[in-house]
Amino acid sequence: MAGYQVLNPATGKVESEFPRASDAEVREAIDLAHHTYNSWRDTKLEERVAIIKRVAELYRERRGELVEIIAREMGKPVRQGAGEIGISADIFDYYADNAAEFLKEEELTVASGGRAVVRMAPTGVILGIMPWNYPYYQVARFAAPNLLLGNTIVLKHASNCPESAQAIAKIFDDAGLPAGAYVNIYASSSQVPSIIEDPRVQGVSLTGSEPAGRSVAEVAGRNLKKCVLELGGSDPFLVLSTEDVTAAAKIAVGGRMANSGQACNASKRVIVVDEYYDEFLQAYLERMKLFAPGDPLDGGTRFGPLSSAGAVDELVELVEDAVAKGANLLLGGNRIEPDEGDWAEGAWMEPTVLTDITPEMRIYREEAFGPVASIYRVADEVEAIRLANDSPFGLGSSIITNDEEQANRVADQIEAGMVYINSAGESEPDLPFGGVKASGIGRELGRFGMEEFANRKLVRWS
Ligand code: NDP
Repeated sequence: MAGYQVLNPATGKVESEFPRASDAEVREAIDLAHHTYNSWRDTKLEERVAIIKRVAELYRERRGELVEIIAREMGKPVRQGAGEIGISADIFDYYADNAAEFLKEEELTVASGGRAVVRMAPTGVILGIMPWNYPYYQVARFAAPNLLLGNTIVLKHASNCPESAQAIAKIFDDAGLPAGAYVNIYASSSQVPSIIEDPRVQGVSLTGSEPAGRSVAEVAGRNLKKCVLELGGSDPFLVLSTEDVTAAAKIAVGGRMANSGQACNASKRVIVVDEYYDEFLQAYLERMKLFAPGDPLDGGTRFGPLSSAGAVDELVELVEDAVAKGANLLLGGNRIEPDEGDWAEGAWMEPTVLTDITPEMRIYREEAFGPVASIYRVADEVEAIRLANDSPFGLGSSIITNDEEQANRVADQIEAGMVYINSAGESEPDLPFGGVKASGIGRELGRFGMEEFANRKLVRWS
């Protein structure tokens, strides 16, 4: 696709198109962000805080129009979109409210005597590359801490999200952010290397797929630029001990199906000890059957289309590969082809449940980015941990347990950036988010998210 385009995944119709930025426009964007950095970094923190507080207010004020945009761009039901606007606004508030504390100078104890402090200083222009699955939230968690720190931003959003990208830029503008502190560009991924290579750009943060992460990290590495990567995941959901199997299944389905299953930290691999397996599977299937597709613009809809027809094809292929190699398909597995006129060309996929998965199947190792759950039966805790860790990814994880010791023991052995006890991973502004292994490098949110692109500058008095 040459340019940026809104192709409504519920209907398959193109709604708007935006030309791709020329190389000259990309250079101008960097010029502007660099020029503004020289003044933005010296503004008083109170001034930056006031602007970011206003950004949070504008998100809430514009909730209605913002949720409609992403319903059309990537199919998110407006009710879920409202939740995304809520957390995005909370992230801006959180960083604005805590910036003074996070940026406070730190006194060091010096063995040889004298005084030394570390100051959190900005570093310059940072490139953000963001995905379509949470178009507002992904930008919020990158932009809020960096703008408060004094960095400026060049933002390349996903090419299917040009309208939300524009709406975000307008919010910053209307909140009083100086021109150039946040510059939205409709760049293509082939223009990204030249942006990273530009000496004025000091770092890059990408949320997206593993191939995109590898490509960005390679260019960043060659140019000695810092990068933060939030990539895919295939989070394990371990059911180890419980008095309420139905409640555990409800949490697991919630963790799998949010955003029609298109979340990096969704509970994609459900691992259940033998004792609970049959009852759990039954309860899980019953809940999965409740998801019926609906119009993303209807306030009652819980299950929208996937982001594109291509995404449905890829998932169906993943399921077919597993079935061909012996997996048991207990639910779904196909594209939904609604006969209702407008929706016939949409990107709809059935809620799907697979069991009897073995390492030869692609789905054992690959990420299923949609409403497809893999359920595994294991003998005990030890086997559950082994299976959970037998993945290239290490983003989040969940443990259902009624035993505190077990919770601590298993949490320590899981290879993941996040472990949730008795819940499915929910992002919160004050809690760090990020993974290990092929899930990425670095952390966003909380205090940690403010440190990634900071220069922790030592000032030493002798
Ligand atoms: P992509 O990686 O294709 O796209 C994400 C962003 O990266 C887009 O802006 C895209 O631009 C850009 N991009 C793609 N390829 C390159 C490249 N080679 N160099 C520079 N930029 C590039 O992701 P998907 O659309 O496939 O999104 C889903 C994936 O993202 C899943 O694997 C998911 O797990 C992961 N993800 C991870 C999250 C996390 O927090 N860890 C959160 C959300 C998603 P363009 O649109 O122009 O191609």
